[in-house]
Amino acid sequence: MIPSGERWDYLVIGSGIAGLTFALGVAEHGRVALVTKDRSDESSSSYAQGGVATVWSPEDSFESHAADTLTAGAGLCHEDVVEMVVREGPERIRDLIELGTRFDSRLEGDAVEYDLGREGGHSRRRVLHAGDLTGQEIVRALTVAVRRQPNVTVFENALAVDLLTDRKLGRDGGPVTCWGAYIFDRENGTVRAVAARTTVLCTGGAGKVYLYTTNPDVATGDGVAIAFRAGAAIGNMEFFQFHPTCLYHPRAKSFLITEALRGEGARLRRPDGTTFMKAYHPDAELAPRDIVAHAIDHEMKVHGYENVYLDITHQPAAYLEERFPNIARRCREFGIDITREWIPVVPAAHYMCGGVVTDRDGQTDISRLYACGEVAMTGLHGANRLASNSLLEGLVFGRRAALHARRALAADRTPPPALPEWNPGTAVNSDESVVVTQNWDEVRRTMWNFVGIVRSTRRLERARKRIAMLQEEIREYYWDFLVTGDLLELRNIATVAALIVRSALSRRESRGLHCTIDHPERDDAQWLHDTIITPSEF
Ligand SMILES: Cc1cc2nc3c(=O)[nH]c(=O)nc-3n(C[C@H](O)[C@H](O)[C@H](O)COP(=O)(O)OP(=O)(O)OC[C@H]3O[C@@H](n4cnc5c(N)ncnc54)[C@H](O)[C@@H]3O)c2cc1C
Repeated sequence: MIPSGERWDYLVIGSGIAGLTFALGVAEHGRVALVTKDRSDESSSSYAQGGVATVWSPEDSFESHAADTLTAGAGLCHEDVVEMVVREGPERIRDLIELGTRFDSRLEGDAVEYDLGREGGHSRRRVLHAGDLTGQEIVRALTVAVRRQPNVTVFENALAVDLLTDRKLGRDGGPVTCWGAYIFDRENGTVRAVAARTTVLCTGGAGKVYLYTTNPDVATGDGVAIAFRAGAAIGNMEFFQFHPTCLYHPRAKSFLITEALRGEGARLRRPDGTTFMKAYHPDAELAPRDIVAHAIDHEMKVHGYENVYLDITHQPAAYLEERFPNIARRCREFGIDITREWIPVVPAAHYMCGGVVTDRDGQTDISRLYACGEVAMTGLHGANRLASNSLLEGLVFGRRAALHARRALAADRTPPPALPEWNPGTAVNSDESVVVTQNWDEVRRTMWNFVGIVRSTRRLERARKRIAMLQEEIREYYWDFLVTGDLLELRNIATVAALIVRSALSRRESRGLHCTIDHPERDDAQWLHDTIITPSEF
């Protein structure tokens, strides 16, 4: 359990690739508390399959990686950020290799070379991978390194509730400063005030806002909701990426079939066996993933299919077992032999391109508060993320934020002020947990049905009203009853849902991942800018 009354130099919230990278970067420069709301290896990072994109081959170039990223981003990437991330990528990958990450390699003549995969939207082979368990391997190596650091203490089952800002301490006026966070201990149900000179949100994405998602249960958008409540600007929330190929099986909760399968020649088929991607994009199955997701969604809606199929049976069975061992095994568990049978797939919510607005060093507009990884809106992805660029973003920004925070702390060692302990007021134990379960379901269904891959103003308006009603109900419940993990997450998914709807309503065009039938064209004259929401405007 995290102790009360201690003062940390760094409070890192989240143990995915961004949080672990940040923690390692500051570990020798102060005392670090790393809190994570589940087991430390439970994160989207751990489930990443395809790999991490970087310029590694001599046939590749920074210009090409940047150009592919910009094309995917549909005019909204910040070019300076793209350039910076792409150029710093190889160095960050070398760090991982030095830490012991084992990427797949193969013999090329006499030399051993890393095996580079190619994914949709990439014009070259540049994706380093470890079978189809790349994230697990990276997280393993980073976790071993972090656990070796005597200055870092990891607290599991510790869920950040809200930031402790000087506004919360009753000091109004001037720029908002963050001095730590309230942390809920899921094992004993208590909330502690944790003081820190620097706080970094590395809480990942928000797939759980939607009914169907590839994300693990921890992806409830907590960091975005927490930062928003504290006064930070949130950007580009309308751009939510749907992965085209999630396994469609009643017993598979959220199992993703990596894009790399299409990189290796897998074809998408209708139930009658015909292929359809050529009708949607000249690159067919290798089109950017939003186009593939739209195509599948369209095929399913027009023809009334429950799913479509992915066919990789042309590849030798031994190769598939070696290259995609995890997918082969999981599909087999559900009775599907990928070496002989087509895989049933549907699209599902996958990646949040928007988030807490940060600069090139991961700084938010709240002093002493950073955000890195999927929780952040750095300008790298613009209106659509290029596959395998997100692990890279976590590495680059985790490192940059750590370096910046180290410098800032060396220049100013002001200790955190005394913090008020959590006050539960008159709240009592709830005997109506069903309200929480029901509202979870309603938020997720509303988002899936009204704010999905293809949107309309009328459906968005409907969603806005329903989410507002649910938020009101959640607010009342929040103050009346003692908090639980489920309630805290529900409050956050409802806030994130409201932000997505608000951003989607405000963008009156279709671009990248935001597609609305009421404004079907991209409109560069009016909309070539980010959608930024600040709490005061909401
Ligand atoms: C199935 C799947 C496959 C993917 N494949 C790829 C791929 O091949 N390549 C690629 O580049 N990207 C891939 N992605 C995306 C990529 O994995 C994520 O964008 C990236 O890992 C995010 O890293 P992160 O550190 O920001 O967050 P995460 O890895 O999600 O970590 C977030 C952490 O924060 C913790 N947390 C959340 N809220 C709180 C709270 N309130 N208090 C305390 N802790 C909290 C979580 O428990 C978790 O430890 C994939 C995603 C999924 C879901």
